[in-house]
Amino acid sequence: MSTIIIQHDDCLRHNPGPRHPESAQRVRAVMSGLEKLKGVQKLPAPLATTEQIIRVHPAEFWAGLQANEPAEGHFSIDPDTLLNHGSINAALRASGAVCFAVDQILADKALRAFCAVRPPGHHSEPQQAMGFCLLNHVAIGALQALAHADIERVAIIDFDVHHGNGTQAVFEQNPDVMYVSSHQSPLYPGTGHIEETGVGNILNLPLEAGDGSDAFRKAWSRLGLPAIHSFEPDLILISAGFDAHERDPLAQLELQDKDYRWITEEICDLATDSAGGRVVSLLEGGYDLQALASASRAHVQGLM
Ligand SMILES: [Zn+2]
Repeated sequence: MSTIIIQHDDCLRHNPGPRHPESAQRVRAVMSGLEKLKGVQKLPAPLATTEQIIRVHPAEFWAGLQANEPAEGHFSIDPDTLLNHGSINAALRASGAVCFAVDQILADKALRAFCAVRPPGHHSEPQQAMGFCLLNHVAIGALQALAHADIERVAIIDFDVHHGNGTQAVFEQNPDVMYVSSHQSPLYPGTGHIEETGVGNILNLPLEAGDGSDAFRKAWSRLGLPAIHSFEPDLILISAGFDAHERDPLAQLELQDKDYRWITEEICDLATDSAGGRVVSLLEGGYDLQALASASRAHVQGLM
């Protein structure tokens, strides 16, 4: 079965300003990296529905976010997180991509999916957009999966260099979802300590600046991957940020393309054991364009 790539040009229309690192060029770089891969099918992302959004974000928050989108210029949620005309549709396509990918995979139309979308989502808490993120796409996708009758447990693996505080906040009381994150610490947003364990379903693997490939692989092979194996998920979602790459300007975890290939293949092996091989991945962070192209290519090759 094929690997599908989900995308939409609406994701290019979110524009937080000319000096903002989270630019449309990021998705263009990813798509250029994936251009020559054979055996992938590209499909357009639908808009997420209100029903899908409000499983994670209260209706009042969602209404307020839409009301704040300006007709021109910017609306600042915080100094990093801005809305322009087009931001809401970009976020809706990104959440819609993940839900669509989940539905395609659970209908056996594909085995693996990668959603090349923006803005990212894992910092967005149920009632607080932050850290470049508006809607929490991976959380919305996990609840889309759990709405399927035969899906009882979903694992979310987050190897973005930042901790996904939003995803953790959504699921820390929900034993049907396991969230495992490796991230540089200390670093934005300041959460993701080992002591944060939810109801036994949260595992944080903080790493130090400069740790590099060995520490990253040890953390996952000794702790992260065995924990997910024991959880026996029916589906695995990946918050695939590429800002732990050695070229990234926002962090110092010093990973290389081959580390993304490695973790992806490990995740796919794990998915084969309990989840029928089913994996849905989506782009989170990553702010060096060359690294985005090469690391996302290594990641999708790993998915295939
Ligand atoms: Zn990040």
